[in-house]
Amino acid sequence: MAIERAFRVSKRPLTAAEVHELAVKEMPTLGVRTVFRRLSEWVREGRVVRVDYPGQPPLYEIVAGQHHPHFICRDCQRVYDLDMEVADVPVINPPPGFLIDGQETIFYGVCPACLTATSAPATGT
Ligand SMILES: [Zn+2]
Repeated sequence: MAIERAFRVSKRPLTAAEVHELAVKEMPTLGVRTVFRRLSEWVREGRVVRVDYPGQPPLYEIVAGQHHPHFICRDCQRVYDLDMEVADVPVINPPPGFLIDGQETIFYGVCPACLTATSAPATGT
């Protein structure tokens, strides 16, 4: 399916609009609404997770076998999947009244694209 391939090709969490943009190349008749509907179906089925980060539109990601950390670029705000292992999930004691059912590891920094853009020669003083 075109939507699924969009995720596989881009290898990072995508907004519904980005999914549509990629999938429509393969399937020109595909509508944005269909993408939305399919994504929420998959979220309910557990095939896709929806991740919400502050200041970001909702992102969708195909559930892969392994948990991997995310990276947010401070320059372009893009969210990446980092293909690396994270040490164990921290052991926590939730405050009373909190039910915790998920955990995310997020790293911040500058992505390779922005890094090469800013470290280009002739910008220094
Ligand atoms: Zn960047």
